[in-house]
Amino acid sequence: MELAIEVNELAKTYPGDVQAVKEISFGVEAGEVFGLLGPNGAGKSTTVGMLTTTILPSSGSAQLVGYDVVRQARETRSVSSVVFQEPVVDRSLSGRRNLDVHARLWRVEPAEAKARIDELANTLGLTALLDRPLSTYSGGQQRRLEIARALVSRPRVLFLDEPTVGLDPRIRAELLDVIAGLRDRTSTTILLTTHYLDEAERLCDRLAIIHEGTIVALDSPAALRAELGEKIVELRVCDNAQRTLELLRERGLAGEDAFAVGATITLPLHERGAPETIAAIEGAGVRTTAIATREPTLDDVYLRLTGGQLSAAA
Ligand code: ADP
Repeated sequence: MELAIEVNELAKTYPGDVQAVKEISFGVEAGEVFGLLGPNGAGKSTTVGMLTTTILPSSGSAQLVGYDVVRQARETRSVSSVVFQEPVVDRSLSGRRNLDVHARLWRVEPAEAKARIDELANTLGLTALLDRPLSTYSGGQQRRLEIARALVSRPRVLFLDEPTVGLDPRIRAELLDVIAGLRDRTSTTILLTTHYLDEAERLCDRLAIIHEGTIVALDSPAALRAELGEKIVELRVCDNAQRTLELLRERGLAGEDAFAVGATITLPLHERGAPETIAAIEGAGVRTTAIATREPTLDDVYLRLTGGQLSAAA
């Protein structure tokens, strides 16, 4: 089956030898929601820029539904759509007029455009607002109209660049529901970038964790978490965390996937039970200020792979 997005050793070096994206490869199947997760500066926007033909790759190749993003830029644009971080709709016009203008731009037949606009308004919860000027929409409503705008042309691939950045938590939650609904109700392939772990977890079928221009992990959120086992023990230690971790490894209490950041040691349990591990740690004379057992999160996955905390970096 043809992939909706196929990326082969794609790289971008900006002037001044800034290697923003370093030979990344991945494939996204039709209908998938695929996430690029990473902190600011990881290379997410540059990747999206190359896939949406606004940034010329330095090397490597990429195709959208078989069209080469460099050699067939026009065709690539005709099968895809982008929701940018910055609004592109006209605030003086009504929602419907905005969508209509966009449909004409894409040469959608008027009758089809009308049906499409009504259907999208329904999917995105905009029906009651459609004939009001956009200047009366809330931030979340405007963002939903931006998504509707991008979908008017029935793109095979939709790019959402940091779709919820800058929104307050309530509006953000509402928008996540809308995007999750899109996933269930359309066959459009979606590539979204985010630095929010919960967003990636909630929306993505698979995600690539991107760090300094390189993909350091790629799988479903559940499979990524499962690499750390079902439970982890988290210790806040009094002595040097790195040396304490080495001691725990020597004693066979910590595996290679345990890691220390600051004064905290994160210890995936795998086969061993939590109570016996904690007892053995205390028996080894490790001094702690806190011990907790919990399920692994994508943050743990990210921390282990990059040594950096996504939430702190964002
Ligand atoms: P992200 O979207 O993950 O925040 P970007 O793709 O925007 O990351 O940036 C990746 C790296 O490339 C960063 O170090 C950034 O400073 C650099 N960068 C982005 N755009 C340019 C540009 N036009 N010129 C030079 N460096 C750039």
